Amino acid sequence: EFQGKRALVTGGNKGIGFAICQGLLRAGFEVIIAARSLDKAKTAVQKLPANASVRVVELDVTDDDSIHRAAEQLNQDDLDVLVNNAGVYPDQDTNILNISRSTLQLALNTNTFGAIQVTQAFLPLLQKATQARVINVSSGYGELSGLSAGVPSYCLSKLALNGATIMLAEALQAQGIAVYAMCPGWVKTDMGGKNAPRSPEQGADTAIWLATEASPDLSGKFFRDRQEISY
Ligand code: NDP
Repeated sequence: EFQGKRALVTGGNKGIGFAICQGLLRAGFEVIIAARSLDKAKTAVQKLPANASVRVVELDVTDDDSIHRAAEQLNQDDLDVLVNNAGVYPDQDTNILNISRSTLQLALNTNTFGAIQVTQAFLPLLQKATQARVINVSSGYGELSGLSAGVPSYCLSKLALNGATIMLAEALQAQGIAVYAMCPGWVKTDMGGKNAPRSPEQGADTAIWLATEASPDLSGKFFRDRQEISY
């Protein structure tokens, strides 16, 4: 159904990002696995069927040169779906009263500023597609009611990512580009840990639904389990 459509997933080499890549491949997309190391992206490709319609690109979301090199490398193409999935969870101290600037910087720089800059850089490619979609992988910790989770830099970064989603959706509405935020739930990955109840496939489901089925009228909204949730 989505043959001829193209998607790029940041942090697509493992965890939820890799599961999103697998789901989009199954739906018929050509998928570009973006990873901060080309080796990691290539290792991920080896876990896919040999005939998978997949490409790789090096993209560190904290590095503007890397972002622009990736966008230039792909600039012949149009891009139907961009998934801003790359993220870090750097909190060691659970107290906002002790949090260091460097921890805040790492979380915001990766999880929030990364998504904004990647969206900007890939905008010319998204504009070439019809009804392109941007999906920001956020978290329930970015909900106003999730801020007391005890991981201050992570919570703030996802709260701000949610804010960026609203602003980007508004800015891109006239161009027919939809922007969504989603929460995957608590997922068994390197970040989520072994006790998480959800598989990466379950965590990826709502992102894949947003990429393929959700109405563009829902741009700017926040989702979990294919349902709108409140910010
Ligand atoms: P993982 O730690 O398994 O994967 C994170 C991915 O992000 C990796 O591919 C990692 O690359 C990549 N990444 C980190 N920093 C950068 C960077 N600077 N540039 C490019 N890529 C980068 O985590 P998950 O799969 O669990 O998380 C994916 C997303 O889901 C994140 O945004 C996370 O916040 C969100 N999320 C996860 C939940 C969970 O329970 N797991 C719950 C709610 C939200 P590398 O392999 O090089 O480290």
